[in-house]
Amino acid sequence: MLDLNKPSTSEIVEQLLIEGLVEEQGKVATSNGRRPTALSLVSDARLVLGVDMGSRTTTFLLADLQGKILRFERLPTPLQPQPKQWGETIIRTCMKLTKFATTEIAGIAISTSASVSPDGQSIVSHEYWDWKDIPLAKAIEVHTKLPTLLVHHVQAMVEAERWFGKEQSNNFLYINWGEHIASAFYNGSSIMAEKSRFGHLPIAPTGLCRCGGIGCLETVSAGWALSEKHQGLSV
Ligand SMILES: [Zn+2]
Repeated sequence: MLDLNKPSTSEIVEQLLIEGLVEEQGKVATSNGRRPTALSLVSDARLVLGVDMGSRTTTFLLADLQGKILRFERLPTPLQPQPKQWGETIIRTCMKLTKFATTEIAGIAISTSASVSPDGQSIVSHEYWDWKDIPLAKAIEVHTKLPTLLVHHVQAMVEAERWFGKEQSNNFLYINWGEHIASAFYNGSSIMAEKSRFGHLPIAPTGLCRCGGIGCLETVSAGWALSEKHQGLSV
């Protein structure tokens, strides 16, 4: 075990104040008499570049720290993207968006339904694409010179709900219904998203699922299944 001292909350806050990332909003009254100081993010202190690598479309946006979108781009995702070509397209589009930055960009966050390495640097595997051990974040970081992190897409959605949707529950199950059905469980301290197989719960002998299984929930209710049944319908 490394005997490292964890920085205290006040030390972390002090550093954020020095860097101009948060500002104090005055004292807050509480039931136990303590009056902690409320903090809020300084919206234009930094920008963030977000990429959502969806199975049908890939979305790029430049936003401030309060989530206000400054620039938005959307590209159709190829059915089976090749890591090299698709990685180059993502890098090119990210570089294009950086030109619209009005202040320093803190980094790039990429959401994906793929399984991501613990350090958020590589795609370990992808449920629907033939991608194995692709160091995507590292490649983007080298070209853009911006810290880059991969995050599971449902985990990113749950984080957004807690930050911007003001979801305050101590624990909850989050379900995302779209092209696929995915879920995440928040237990009060961490988010369990990647291992979720919610859309692949067997429900009835309904047919072949894209995961290779038979009778998964997705075969009757995922966007891809509805599109196949009602050709041309886009969810
Ligand atoms: Zn399935």
